[in-house]
Amino acid sequence: MSFNIAIDGPAGAGKSTIAKKLAKKISFIYVDTGAMYRAMGYYFLQHGIKAEEEEKIKEVCDDISVALAYENGVQKVLLNGEDKIRQEEVGNMASATSGYGFVRAKLLSLQQDMAAQHNVIMDGRDIGTCVLPNAQLKIFLTASVEVRAKRRYDELVAKGEQCDLAEIEKDISERDYRDMHREIAPLKAAEDAVMLDSSDLNIDEVVEAIYEQAKKAGLDA
Ligand code: C5P
Repeated sequence: MSFNIAIDGPAGAGKSTIAKKLAKKISFIYVDTGAMYRAMGYYFLQHGIKAEEEEKIKEVCDDISVALAYENGVQKVLLNGEDKIRQEEVGNMASATSGYGFVRAKLLSLQQDMAAQHNVIMDGRDIGTCVLPNAQLKIFLTASVEVRAKRRYDELVAKGEQCDLAEIEKDISERDYRDMHREIAPLKAAEDAVMLDSSDLNIDEVVEAIYEQAKKAGLDA
């Protein structure tokens, strides 16, 4: 049976950086489910579809093929242009459309199949609660809104993108609100999740903390 680690939490808590590092350390596959919602959001934006246009989104859902591939252990979402899905605009579109049940249903089986076949660290919003309720370890990773906005800001500046800290903070707060208050699969900690606040921890400290929890949960690595 595969060993599954679920990491949930709000945008910018450091989930993907940490999950990637831990996956490398323990030779697990990292599955970034946010990238899948972003790929869908990117497609909608590319086709001039607005988040409110539920019927149109439903119609085009079948035309979208989202698949995962791995190159040297790094996940690639197979929809043209991996880099583009990191833009704030795409993240906001992903957040605005991820509340539709048919969008979530499309990605759910892909995520569950990956976890059934491989040892995975999967991050997202509903992994511990909906996608992998039987994961051996569930982590809920948080950090203050200010810390998360500053991290995102530094990331974008490092890429040479123009951005505004206050704007990012506002976007993150709005996205948190939407993710936590949607009807289907809202962002929340599973009852048996280990809570971890990364505001005052560096990346390696968080990786180590999760690694220790994984060993406690039976990981033999
Ligand atoms: O994690 P990331 O910021 O890339 O995710 C983009 C958006 O995709 C989130 O704001 C959220 O609305 C959605 N998402 C989701 N369920 C997941 C992962 C992401 O609804 N498991």
